[in-house]
Amino acid sequence: MALLEVSDLQVQYETVRGPFKAVDGVSFSIRRGELFGLVGESGCGKSTTAYALSRLLKPPAKVTGGSIAFDGRELTALSDAEFDRIRWSRIPIVLQNAMSNLNPVMRIGAQLIDVLQAHRPKLTKAQAVAEAARALELVDLPKEKLHRYPHELSGGMRQRVVIAMALLLKPDLIIMDEPTTALDVITQQGIVSKIVELKREFGFAVLFITHDLPLLLEFCDRVGVMYAGKMVEISSREELLKGGRHPYTQGLLQSFPSLHGPKVRLKGIPGLPPDLISPPQGCRFQPRCGQARPECGVASPGERFDEKGFVSCHLYGQGGAAS
Ligand code: SF4
Repeated sequence: MALLEVSDLQVQYETVRGPFKAVDGVSFSIRRGELFGLVGESGCGKSTTAYALSRLLKPPAKVTGGSIAFDGRELTALSDAEFDRIRWSRIPIVLQNAMSNLNPVMRIGAQLIDVLQAHRPKLTKAQAVAEAARALELVDLPKEKLHRYPHELSGGMRQRVVIAMALLLKPDLIIMDEPTTALDVITQQGIVSKIVELKREFGFAVLFITHDLPLLLEFCDRVGVMYAGKMVEISSREELLKGGRHPYTQGLLQSFPSLHGPKVRLKGIPGLPPDLISPPQGCRFQPRCGQARPECGVASPGERFDEKGFVSCHLYGQGGAAS
C-alpha cells in the first residue's frame, strides 16, 4: 500500500472572473521511503498541491474535490485539531523561505523545544534540549546554534534548521516546497545531499517540489510533471534520463543545459501556459506543442498507466494497469 495516495485532487481560487482551477484532477502516490519529485513551470499547481496536502491553503483557495489518503487514513475527513496532530509529527512541510517556518523573535533552541514539547508533553526540558541539539547535529549544525536567532544564521543554515525541525518527531513523509530555490548552487547541493543521507538513515519519504527538473534527476526515484493544473507524466528517474514521454517533459528537459556530453543548443518551450479560468479545449499544452495532432485541440487526452508509469497525451492512447 502506498504511504500517500492522492486521487483526483481539485483546488480552485475564486476570482472576480470565475473559478481558477489551479489543481484540476491530480492523482499520484508516494511509497514509503521514496523520493518523489514534482516539477513544472510557475503557476502549474505544484505548490498549491503541497499546500492542499498540508492544509495550508487560505481563501480564496479551497479544495473542491478528490481524496488524500495517508497511511490508509483519509486526511480530508479529519478535523483541524486531528490534522494538527499529524502535521508536524508525521507530514511536516519545509517551505522555500525558511523564515516562513521560523519565528524571527525566538531563539532556534526554543523553537525546536516548543515543537518537541507540543507533541511529546512527557519530555523533560533537559531531554528536549538534548534532542534539539541532536537534531541540529544531524544537519551538520553545532549545538551552539540553539542559542541563535534565525536572523543570525545564513539562508542555508536556516533551511537546515527547518529540516532539523521536520526530523524532530521522526516523520513518515516530508513535503519540501522549493526548499533550495533561494540558495546558491553549492548550498543547494549540500542540502540535497544531506536530505538523501538522512532519508537513507531514517527511511522517511520526501515529496520534493521544484521547477528545476535536472536537480530532481540527481536524486529522486520518480518524478511527476505538472502542466496547467494537470499531471501529465509520472516516470522513474531512469525513464526521464532517457528523454521522457510527454512532449512537455521533453521540452523541459531540452530547456536546461546538460552537465555531461557535448554542448547542444537549448530549445526552450515557445509560448505561455494557458489562462486556467478559461483553458483551451482539448489538451492544455496543444498551443505550445510541436507534436500536436488534429484531435489534440478537440478532446482532452486520456490517462495511460503502464509499466513505465503514467502519461496523459494523445500520442500514447489509453489503457494499461494502474501503477
Ligand atoms: Fe501534444 Fe497532443 Fe500530446 Fe497534448 S495531447 S502533448 S497537444 S501530442
